[in-house]
Amino acid sequence: MNIYVVPMGITRCYIIQNKGTILIDSGPPNQLHKFTSRVREMGIDPKEIKLIINTHGHFDHIGSATDIKHTTGAQIAMHELDKECLEDSVNRAITGVNTWGRILAWLSARISLSQIPTTKVDIVLGDDEFSLTPFGISGRILHTPGHTMGSVSVLLDTGYAFVGDLAMNGFPFHFGPGLSLFAEAPELVRKSLRLLLDQGARVIYPGHGKPCQVDTLRRLI
Ligand SMILES: [Zn+2]
Ligand SMILES: [Zn+2]
Repeated sequence: MNIYVVPMGITRCYIIQNKGTILIDSGPPNQLHKFTSRVREMGIDPKEIKLIINTHGHFDHIGSATDIKHTTGAQIAMHELDKECLEDSVNRAITGVNTWGRILAWLSARISLSQIPTTKVDIVLGDDEFSLTPFGISGRILHTPGHTMGSVSVLLDTGYAFVGDLAMNGFPFHFGPGLSLFAEAPELVRKSLRLLLDQGARVIYPGHGKPCQVDTLRRLI
C-alpha cells in the first residue's frame, strides 16, 4: 500500500493506493491544477481515484472537492451532519478552544472568504462505520465528531489513521502534536481519539502537520 501526501494550501491531503485509489480531503478552493500536476508527478492518473473522503466540512478540506470530482469522476463521501457545507456552500465558522485557537479562528474568518463550489455528496455517512473494501482499500471510515459534529476519520487495517482536524501537529497550531485547537464539541475530540486508539490506531495523519505516533497524543486524552 502506498500513501502519498498532497499538500494543497494549508492542508495536507492524502492519496492511498492499494488495489484501488482514494483521496482524503480536497484542500481549499482553486487548487485543482496544483492537485492534478502533483498527482501526475506521482505517476498516478487522476481518473484512478474512485473515492474522495472529506473528513469534515471546513473550506480548507472541501474547497476543491467539486473540481476534483469533475476531473476524476470519483464519488464523494461525507458525513450527513457536515454535507451541507459542500452541497449548499455553507462556510461554517470555527470555534477556538483556547486563546490561541480563538485568535486563529478570528484570522481564519477573514481569509476564508472564497466561495465553496457546490456538488452533491454521493455517499452520505452516518454513525455506522463504512468499509473501504469495495474501493480496494483495507480500512474503514469511522464517525469521529468533536472538531465538527460531522467529522470522520479513515482507519486503515495497518493502524494508520487519517483524522482531518481531530489532531494537529506543528506551527501555527502547535509546536508539536496536539488535539485540535478548534472544536464544536471539545469533549467529543478526546472521546473520538480514544475510539481510534481502541480500534487499533498507531500512527496519526493529521490534516495540518506531519504524521505522529499515537503515544504522543495518548497522554492528552
Ligand atoms: Zn477543520
Ligand atoms: Zn483544517
